[in-house]
Amino acid sequence: MTDYEDTDPEELRSGLKKIRKRRWFFWITIMLYLPSMMLAMQAPQAGQAIVTVFIIWILLLIVAVALLALVRCPQCGNCFHMNGYSFRPVRNCFHCRLHLTADKQK
Ligand SMILES: [Zn+2]
Repeated sequence: MTDYEDTDPEELRSGLKKIRKRRWFFWITIMLYLPSMMLAMQAPQAGQAIVTVFIIWILLLIVAVALLALVRCPQCGNCFHMNGYSFRPVRNCFHCRLHLTADKQK
């Protein structure tokens, strides 16, 4: 276990900022699903539009999950949201328990 003092505060801040940005991208992608589907259902060729929107959304989701899964913890250097093969987008580092807003708590 390492504590906050071992990490350069500037590095910690920019690392956590990157994680927060990627989390936003992930949640926005998930929330986009419903409105984009509703729009697609109103299209003249609804069936085709729904399939197109769904494929684009799945690709976006894969990118969002990959970005989130691969982001590194600025404190311990491990993947922030990953432990082995389990993925958990919670607010603490899986390995060193660093909180997402640790840079704002000081
Ligand atoms: Zn960590």
